[in-house]
Amino acid sequence: MEKTVHIAVVPGPGFSHLVPILEFSKRLVQLHPHFHVKCIIPSFGSPPTSSKTILETLESNITYTFLPPVKPEDLPQGAAIETQLQFTVTLSLPSIHQVLKSLTSTTPFVALVTDSFAFEALDFAQEFNMLSYIYFPTTATTLSWYFYVSKLDKETSCEYKDLKEPIVIPGCVPIHGMDLNNQAQDRSSQVYKLFLQRVQRFLFVDGIFVNSSLELERGPIAALKEEGRGYPPVYPVGPIIQTGKRYGNDAKGFECLAWLDKQQPGSVLYVSFGSGGTLSQEQMDELAYGLELSDHKFLWVVRAPSTLASDAYLHAQNDDPLQFLPSGFLERTKDQGMVIPSWAPQIQVLSHSSVGGFLTHCGWNSTLESLLQGVPLITWPLFAEQRMNAVLLCEGLKVGLRPRVNENGLVERVEVAEVIKCLMEGEEGGKMRKRMKELKEAGTDAIKQDGSSTKTLSQLVLKWKNLV
Ligand code: UDP
Repeated sequence: MEKTVHIAVVPGPGFSHLVPILEFSKRLVQLHPHFHVKCIIPSFGSPPTSSKTILETLESNITYTFLPPVKPEDLPQGAAIETQLQFTVTLSLPSIHQVLKSLTSTTPFVALVTDSFAFEALDFAQEFNMLSYIYFPTTATTLSWYFYVSKLDKETSCEYKDLKEPIVIPGCVPIHGMDLNNQAQDRSSQVYKLFLQRVQRFLFVDGIFVNSSLELERGPIAALKEEGRGYPPVYPVGPIIQTGKRYGNDAKGFECLAWLDKQQPGSVLYVSFGSGGTLSQEQMDELAYGLELSDHKFLWVVRAPSTLASDAYLHAQNDDPLQFLPSGFLERTKDQGMVIPSWAPQIQVLSHSSVGGFLTHCGWNSTLESLLQGVPLITWPLFAEQRMNAVLLCEGLKVGLRPRVNENGLVERVEVAEVIKCLMEGEEGGKMRKRMKELKEAGTDAIKQDGSSTKTLSQLVLKWKNLV
């Protein structure tokens, strides 16, 4: 009888760090039924309902345990979201250690896989005789930047955003400093220093999984794998997106799917900024007027405005978001669009035949979900590595249009309307739709039984099995 292979995974705090590592775990156990995954979940305050719902749908060979939640007052007040995520894990380390100790006292665990914000837990891998891996839930381009930043840090003294020329990271589309991840926007900040420390640690793991595939990012993946660079092995295992039972099937979710049923094929622009992205009141107004001006159908997931783009990411919003829409907007657009407060069943929305475009904040999960449905994009990055994703999508893969931002950092209504028209009815939009369909096929192929990502994962699994 084949022996069970046990591995432990540690996600980062928050819904959108939990989902990717769970989906990776599901893929492991689906391809290799003799695997058992234990998910050890750090959290900040009480875990969101969306996280609990998704955990209830797991197959029996993935089990989980919630760690005692970190108290919000114990985190550095007013710190960047990345710092808060990392500190949540730092404060959870004693309980992670305790859980690992108890698990490994009765059962041998082959590997420990953590989210990129939970990398400190990997310090326990050796003690418990486990191999150490990072599940990097985003692109090979971003991972390449992580490995490149230390070199650039030594070579330049100014802020990266002030560099005149785009930065050329091996194998990647050249990128302007201002489009780098938030953590690299202020080199004197604590979040930048933590970022540099984190990437150093990445060099000493047994491997890194990226949620991408050769077909999507051949250049960066080839460069990451080049010998002599001194990087750990990089395994492209994507595109991995949410599967299984859907959530968000509340009344509002059903209502928006029923509304989509009544629309023409490919006619609707879906507008959403991920699980926590927010706009300022002024930007929200411009977007609302722009949607109206475009004369195109839209389905907009509306969130209450905030001056901090990642505000709703870890903090639940209690205000009714619809009250912040411009006066008369809902009445004037009642035949043109639908707004849904805070949350939509996104995968079902993107797979609906009425949806012809997605205005997205470029979170990598949303991006892959759109890609696997062949839906082209309007890229509206807000924070984290989303601007880097926008560059890859618009300049590399050429499946997205990026609206111009004015000198005050605002996308004006006329620009919103123009870019929507260009995507939904223009020649350029047509070309993007065609390229997105090609990427859909390439992405689907990568995760088939004989696909490149499946083979990569299977080879590693064989290595783990041989260790048992
Ligand atoms: N999502 C959803 N409904 C919403 C907003 C988001 O189902 O109204 C899901 C979406 O399908 C994706 C995840 O939340 O799986 C968002 O992840 P992403 O990486 O795109 O962005 P983040 O939330 O990390 O900024």
